Amino acid sequence: MTLQERDKKVIWHPFTQMKTALPPIPIVRGEGTMLYTEDGRTFIDAISSWWVNLHGHAHPYIAEKVAAQLTTLEHVIFADFTHNPAVELAERLLPLLPANQAKVFYSDNGSTAVEVALKMAFQYWHNIGKPRTKVIALEDAYHGDTFGAMAVGGRSAFTAPFVPFLFDVEYIPAPIPGREEEVLARFESLLDENVAAFIFEPLVQGAGGMVMYEPEILTKLIQAAQKKGVLAIADEVMVGFGRTGKLFASHYLTDVKPDLMCLSKGLTGGTMALGVTTCSEQIYEAFLSADKHKTLFHGHSFTANPLACTAALASLDLTLSEATKTAIQWLADRHQTFAKQLVQHPVVRHVRQRGTILAFDLHLGGETSYFNNIRDVAYAFLLERGVLMRPLGNVLYLLPPYCITEEQLTFVYQQIEALLDTLAKEV
Ligand SMILES: *Cc1c(COP(=O)(O)O)cnc(C)c1O
Repeated sequence: MTLQERDKKVIWHPFTQMKTALPPIPIVRGEGTMLYTEDGRTFIDAISSWWVNLHGHAHPYIAEKVAAQLTTLEHVIFADFTHNPAVELAERLLPLLPANQAKVFYSDNGSTAVEVALKMAFQYWHNIGKPRTKVIALEDAYHGDTFGAMAVGGRSAFTAPFVPFLFDVEYIPAPIPGREEEVLARFESLLDENVAAFIFEPLVQGAGGMVMYEPEILTKLIQAAQKKGVLAIADEVMVGFGRTGKLFASHYLTDVKPDLMCLSKGLTGGTMALGVTTCSEQIYEAFLSADKHKTLFHGHSFTANPLACTAALASLDLTLSEATKTAIQWLADRHQTFAKQLVQHPVVRHVRQRGTILAFDLHLGGETSYFNNIRDVAYAFLLERGVLMRPLGNVLYLLPPYCITEEQLTFVYQQIEALLDTLAKEV
């Protein structure tokens, strides 16, 4: 039996309609930006394998550090025990975050990082004796697939079967350029004594279609929220670790800081599953008490797994290196040049960019949604040419590892142009 046949017998893949899906592509090896198949095909991973892989696949430096940790301490319970990789990672992360972030809580993915932030926010109000129950989120937000994370995400076909089980959330539209004042007014009208938290993906809404907005309006929204005591939760699961051109998207804000932050995806450079929720001293202190009921009763078996923390430390070394800083700037500049070319193209709309993330809409007229088949056509076309991109509906985007070479990036741009020319002929 081939691997694909064995897979079909036993595996259920994520976000996949198993009835109609093509057989999955077996990957045997990764190196840098490249993925290799058994039968000799190669793909440029232009989306960093779902936005996690910052420094390329099987990075030898991360591998070496994790291997050493693996034979020293692979795991230990994190209640009543601690270890150097967890402490060192927190010590190194906090000074890189907005200055009010004071404590690190570990979990094991982006969804759980969001769950923890929500539970901290709700329990903060509970603990100080002024319970608040409402959350304000952005339309088309994506914060993960567990129930709390789903509840604060935008409602869509993805969440439809679960709507009866999701807590109520108020939504504001994404404050995209041109809609800022309207969104701010709506937001202010929703802020009342019962709003516990405002959660947002700063500057770029990822899964919702790489929707981008400006730091100035986010600054105003956070200011309005915090004036009413509402806790601001920055979900930097996708945008963290240099994606937007700065180390964290929250660094684009002026004179405001989020109260809570969620990190995952790029945290370990794509090597291991790890989530981090950070919070301000004020939030942390609301849980300190002789009364055990004020404890944050939350934890996962793999909380602060030493291997994952070690991978994160190694990834951080690479992220903070001069070589990576230069690569991020170079990637942003190259995207900017390519964006100017894209704007000219008849089937392209809404070209947008923030740092290393470049996105645009394919516009062929007619219905556009995730289930529209332009997505499948574009995906298959690029894959056939050795480029892994996964359009979000009619939104095509690039989010490559920082180590992508000039040659690889040029090749990716050329394949996108070939796709656009082919689509233009069909309109
Ligand atoms: C991917 C993502 C999540 C969920 O992370 P998982 O690790 O997939 O659970 C949460 N928030 C944002 C902004 C994301 O992009």
